Amino acid sequence: MNDKPANFLTAVIDEDLEKGKHQKIVTRFPPEPNGYLHIGHAKSICLNFGLALQYNGECNLRFDDTNPEKEDQEYIDSIQEDIKWLGFNWAGEVKYSSSYFDTLHDYARHLVKEGKAYVCDLSPEQAREYRGTLTEAGKDSPYRNRTVEENLALFEKMRLGEFDEGACVLRAKIDMASPNMNLRDPILYRIRKVEHHQTGDKWCIYPSYDFTHGQSDALEGITHSICTLEFEDHRPLYEWFLDNLPVPANPKQYEFARLNVNYTVTSKRKLKRLVDESVVSGWDDPRMPTISGMRRRGVPAAALRNFSDMVGTNRSEGVVDLGMLDFAIREELNETAPRAMCVLNPVKVVISNVVADHFEEMAAPVHPNKEEMGARKLPFTQELYIDRADFSEDTTLSRKKFKRLVLGEYVRLRSAYVIKADAVVKDESGEITEIKASIVEGTVGENPPEGIKPRGVIHWVSASKSVKAKVRLYDRLFNHETPDKGEQDLMEYLNPNSLAVLEDCYIEPDAVTMPAETSFQFEREGYFVLDRHESSSDSPVFNKTIGLKDVWERKV
Ligand code: ATP
Ligand code: MG
Repeated sequence: MNDKPANFLTAVIDEDLEKGKHQKIVTRFPPEPNGYLHIGHAKSICLNFGLALQYNGECNLRFDDTNPEKEDQEYIDSIQEDIKWLGFNWAGEVKYSSSYFDTLHDYARHLVKEGKAYVCDLSPEQAREYRGTLTEAGKDSPYRNRTVEENLALFEKMRLGEFDEGACVLRAKIDMASPNMNLRDPILYRIRKVEHHQTGDKWCIYPSYDFTHGQSDALEGITHSICTLEFEDHRPLYEWFLDNLPVPANPKQYEFARLNVNYTVTSKRKLKRLVDESVVSGWDDPRMPTISGMRRRGVPAAALRNFSDMVGTNRSEGVVDLGMLDFAIREELNETAPRAMCVLNPVKVVISNVVADHFEEMAAPVHPNKEEMGARKLPFTQELYIDRADFSEDTTLSRKKFKRLVLGEYVRLRSAYVIKADAVVKDESGEITEIKASIVEGTVGENPPEGIKPRGVIHWVSASKSVKAKVRLYDRLFNHETPDKGEQDLMEYLNPNSLAVLEDCYIEPDAVTMPAETSFQFEREGYFVLDRHESSSDSPVFNKTIGLKDVWERKV
């Protein structure tokens, strides 16, 4: 993790360190605990924690918890779990903006005393009207010239709960004519008579995001406060607070372009809708672009970190193709995933030239190019399963197009014998219930005799010694490239076929003894992971992570 690509932020940090502006860099990741983290947050985590690692600095985890109504302990817990799973550690204890509420309150009083803040009684509608527009200056609030004493007294009454919600707010006195709307006397404190998950009922006034963020950064000694571009226009306000308050440090805000991925929604609010309206099974449904959803789908943490590096860090907005994430996932899993054979759509093969209780153990590598990962044992018995799609009665199929088993012809069973399909048994509806086959003796690990030409290699399992498994196949959740920016509501773009469940799959026995969350490459099928919540060795459940890109092409 130490060899990160250079970007505009590393250029800034290099210069700051060179000039001695900082001895050590301190970054932070500041989620609002109002939902589970998604792939966009993963980018921000990898960036903030990654820079700290790269420069031997520190990165804080700070919950930006100024909106108690929407926040929840469940989200606080899941966010910590996701960050750890991604492979990062925050410096010291978890931090909360709410720990600074006393200091922020002092800061607000400081501004009031300096004549730089006032209590304003305009209703929200009036305030909007007074605010002006992008092309039109705002108007001063009639409450703008209240005296310091009056403001201190009113602000104290706000704190004591003597006013109703919405009756008044505390605002900074900056400039109602500023071309930057954020500087038109922004709100510092509002009344919210709600309990807070950290501070209980201590407060009924809560600071705004803008009044909280920079000061929290300063209190924690953050050197580089990295956020997404939508906060660029807030930077002058961020700096105004730092310039006008007795803060202990002077952090700098830098913005980068947020990560957008096609076919994906990256907004906690919209993802919450999918959960609330039961479109998915929960925040960690494997189809969700949440970190916990991707984890449950079998996406390795390393793939997310690599993806985050691949997309880079810059200041121009764009949409990243989901294929880039797929690439990172395959690259990682191809290297690390043990191989296994699993028949997803089974049809029975009965070998006529072995005895009924025939038992033989075939050996196969756990990973084709990693001997150190060891070998696996594949029980070979008289009755086997192969995939229905790997058999055809149509003898006219070209060998090039159909490299599988055809009636009257040969195929290699992966890591086992070459077999010949001799006959089929069908039920009344004409469906094949059994393929009668015979092995070609002496072909385990050996070429077949002259004249016998297998069409290809297929996967298989023993019928009696395999384990029945449930396999869930996932497709993308939305069938629109920009589901939340289309003409219709995002729910209109849901892919109706995003989940298919196969109840009767059969897998080689050793695979299911692996711990939950083990990822496998099912040969010829793709990458699958043992579900972390619903799987057991008796009734294993696998989630499909991603298909194999390359078609199966191997020497027989
Ligand atoms: P959402 O709209 O999903 O709630 P948010 O930005 O409001 O996102 P926060 O919890 O405030 O969510 O975000 C924590 C950090 O993650 C912020 O620094 C934010 O800039 C960053 N972040 C959020 N979404 C993205 C994204 N798509 N790409 C990069 N960084 C992001
Ligand atoms: Mg936010």
